Amino acid sequence: MSVEMIEPVPRPGILDIAAYVPGKEHAPGVARVYKLSSNETPLGASPKAIEAFRRSAEQLERYPDGQAVELREAIAATYGLNVANILCGNGSDELLGLLCHVYLGTGDEAIITEHGFLVYKIQIMAAGATPVTVKERDCTVDVDAILAAVTPRTRMVFIANPGNPTGTYVPVAEIRRLHAALPKNVLLVLDAAYAEYVKRNDYEAGIELVSANRNVVMTRTFSKVHGLAALRIGWIYAPAAIIDALNRVRGPFNMNAPAIAAGAAAIRDQAFVETAVAYNALWLDKLTHALEAIGLKVTPSVTNFVLIHFPDVDGKRAAQADDFLTSRGYILRAVRGYGFANALRMSIGPEEANRGVIEALGEFMGKTA
Ligand SMILES: *Cc1c(COP(=O)(O)O)cnc(C)c1O
Repeated sequence: MSVEMIEPVPRPGILDIAAYVPGKEHAPGVARVYKLSSNETPLGASPKAIEAFRRSAEQLERYPDGQAVELREAIAATYGLNVANILCGNGSDELLGLLCHVYLGTGDEAIITEHGFLVYKIQIMAAGATPVTVKERDCTVDVDAILAAVTPRTRMVFIANPGNPTGTYVPVAEIRRLHAALPKNVLLVLDAAYAEYVKRNDYEAGIELVSANRNVVMTRTFSKVHGLAALRIGWIYAPAAIIDALNRVRGPFNMNAPAIAAGAAAIRDQAFVETAVAYNALWLDKLTHALEAIGLKVTPSVTNFVLIHFPDVDGKRAAQADDFLTSRGYILRAVRGYGFANALRMSIGPEEANRGVIEALGEFMGKTA
């Protein structure tokens, strides 16, 4: 008797998927713990978003607006976009999954990059398609490597811009060059989860590229600069035909009411966003320099985290540093699963945590910071 006859069996490929493992949260036996492993903001959410969330608690018996109009209108007003081209999701994770389920099937290929976000690979495989991984160059997405991997089976290309866990970015001219060389039936997905943090003149999140084409989408999140990771809010800006297709398969009430209310209040509070971005810029610079002064290599980041590379000598490797920092209450992210065996990713945290990590790593490296 074959196994199919004695119990339900997932579709071929499902059990080949390695489940996503979130950043660590605990440091056993340590009184004060700083979680710097999930790129959460140290500034929390806008007080206006928290107030909107509280108010929504008074009507929990009601179904949410299935079109999330209030939130979509607030996003549209902030960026000068057409509401009809915006769709919200339960985190951008949901939207990435929907894209795969709508545009990929068995026999199709989707291109991802060496150090790309692990969610892409999971969703591509969940749709029955084949992920094709291409090399990056200096921890940066390599447009030529992507183009070299395109075959007649390619249906999608995923780029996190800026990248996670690298923190690097691809200039808009390069993204345009990539798009221009892709076949028209290949969907280019620009995941701009960290766009708000980027302070570079040659960076664009992708709005203009989406507006001018039929095969580009941009995804965004409220989990990072807006400090609403707990509520799971993402959005996609896409051509009408793509929004229409996604709307056919999404859950009718995929956004919950507290998320719609809090998200709308958060994006209207741009003063709060500016404060968070300014705080980040200050500490991104300070942290990078301080870690380099200790003798560590830091990949130049435009985001709210840094990728710290450890020297390949006994006792000074990432795993040992991870244990050392955890024992002090600083939880960083191991990034082995992203192709970095000897690095840790650190989210920019509150001031005392940033200073604490610098001091602890100075000690770890045998120098005083
Ligand atoms: C954090 C992050 C997201 C956000 O995911 P949500 O589901 O919206 O929380 C998306 N893409 C990348 C690359 C990220 O690092």
